[in-house]
Amino acid sequence: MAIPHVDVQAQYAPLIPELQEAFARTLETGRFIFGPEVEAFEREAAAHLGTVDAVSCANGTDALVLVLDAMEIGPGDEVICPAFTFYATAEAIARRGATPVFAEIDPVSLNLDPADVERRITGRTKALMPVHLFGRPAPGLAGFGLPVIEDAAQAFGAGGIATSVASTFSFFPTKNLFALGDGGLISVNDAALAERIRMLRFHGSAAKKEFLYVGYNSRLDALQASFLRIFLRHIDAWNVQRREAAARYTELLDGLVETPVDEAGHVYHMYCVRSPERDRLAAALKAAEIGCAVYYQPPLHLQPALRYLGYSEGDFPETEKAARENLCLPLWAGITEEQQSEVVSVLKRASGLVRS
Ligand SMILES: *Cc1c(COP(=O)(O)O)cnc(C)c1O
Repeated sequence: MAIPHVDVQAQYAPLIPELQEAFARTLETGRFIFGPEVEAFEREAAAHLGTVDAVSCANGTDALVLVLDAMEIGPGDEVICPAFTFYATAEAIARRGATPVFAEIDPVSLNLDPADVERRITGRTKALMPVHLFGRPAPGLAGFGLPVIEDAAQAFGAGGIATSVASTFSFFPTKNLFALGDGGLISVNDAALAERIRMLRFHGSAAKKEFLYVGYNSRLDALQASFLRIFLRHIDAWNVQRREAAARYTELLDGLVETPVDEAGHVYHMYCVRSPERDRLAAALKAAEIGCAVYYQPPLHLQPALRYLGYSEGDFPETEKAARENLCLPLWAGITEEQQSEVVSVLKRASGLVRS
């Protein structure tokens, strides 16, 4: 039985009639840019997250750039982030002309290690940018007296998120809260910052005639907002389903590989195991037509575009080891027990071969 890594269609299939209704509504009104669907989604997302405001934009990468810009972080400034994350985290910092400063991860949570973050703070550090990797809430970094920008692209609805200055989200179709295309959001706890981000996403203007900043054109379109409003009503249930599926994997795997240590509020954007035999296990899954993914190899400090930062191999041993060992198994809200058993039995057979 072929099993995809993520089955996005299975998640939205039961909602197709509602999605078609939303599409029809937009066709009727002819409002494709901004308008009531976008405003309603922003209100509903802020209410769901419990933040002062939420500003939508074109994607999760723009969300990061917009926040950094609104906070006037740019050349000469440093922002601390992990190297074990999607490239966009550091790219957004570099895009602003600021310097990404990498810090080491904790080998169990795969999130930033606060002690290492502390060692890398300098007089130029303007913000800390933790990533809630694979849906696991990153440890709070508020104690360092610096603004925290959370890259929550993989963690909508995770416990303890969106409590800092600003958190960013991506609605890329494989994320736990997704659009049927691209989309992004910034949840903000400071009304003035939210206003500035709202202007920046539309050419630095509030009134279309007066342009206060050099901004961007980065909008979530009305159709995506209308779909997201539907998905937002299901995200809590989906996150519970993800947690249940993760618990089932951990039970079925029974110590065969290193399984993620559970934590309250983890929403399992990915179910990520670790093994020194990772490449062989991945090959076995592939041969059995089972989708899986290996993330962030090479990690960001070794990426060609960021070579100018001057890092080299060996600088972040835990990050590099995690990149060599991680394997993300098929997971989505609604994966069946049968599919999970199949994944685990392929891994068990492959491990048998490994040992003989
Ligand atoms: C997906 C992702 C992004 C970027 O989101 P896009 O919508 O693809 O631009 C940024 N950071 C992390 C951690 C992500 O997983």
